[in-house]
Amino acid sequence: MPSPTSAPRPTLWVATTNRGKTREFKLLLSKRWRIQDLHALPKLPPIRETGATFLANAKIKALAVSRRLPGKLILSDDSGLVVPALGERPGVRSARFSGPKATNESNRAKLLKLMTRLRGSLRRAYFQAVLVLARDGRVIGSTSGRVWGRITAIEQGMGGFGYDPIFQPRGFSKTFGELNSFIKNRISHRARACRMIQPLMSRAERS
Ligand code: IMP
Repeated sequence: MPSPTSAPRPTLWVATTNRGKTREFKLLLSKRWRIQDLHALPKLPPIRETGATFLANAKIKALAVSRRLPGKLILSDDSGLVVPALGERPGVRSARFSGPKATNESNRAKLLKLMTRLRGSLRRAYFQAVLVLARDGRVIGSTSGRVWGRITAIEQGMGGFGYDPIFQPRGFSKTFGELNSFIKNRISHRARACRMIQPLMSRAERS
């Protein structure tokens, strides 16, 4: 009789083309799930993230992909960096903070420049992730996770993606760009939201 560990893993579609997010979802979930992302569906039209909140955008992405993949379980992630001293920016606009042609590098450079004169607690920031689980055009559930830290004065480290080289999580003297990915994936906004959505995913898979 095959052992439970040799059973094929169910597929979870992650509604993203962001390779950094996919890498993290694989680290977080691949023991139980086979992770596929939108690179496997090159014909899917781009999804416009027109929502004003992380939750609204996460729902838009999860529902759009779930309608294209009948019967499949879809997980979306909408996330970003929030700096209270900058009026909650970049927030939902984190990916395109420095304009329509934004890159991770140009976004970090813009943020560091805006924060040049900010000291002490004004450099506090958090990452927020909202995850939505959907199937067949219906939302099954959502969770969110947050990690507080501070924005460094200069870039430190090259690991991770996005704003990781300028974000130092509370309690650590290194940025997410310097910390080993296992540490990030234990304490991050995405890891926290992921831990909470896993029971919903298992239940949905069985039903
Ligand atoms: P979206 O969720 O695709 O709209 O974009 C999220 C954006 O937020 C990314 O492109 C990054 O710039 C930023 N972001 C979200 N999560 C992380 C993270 O874990 N590390 C660094 N940047 C992140």
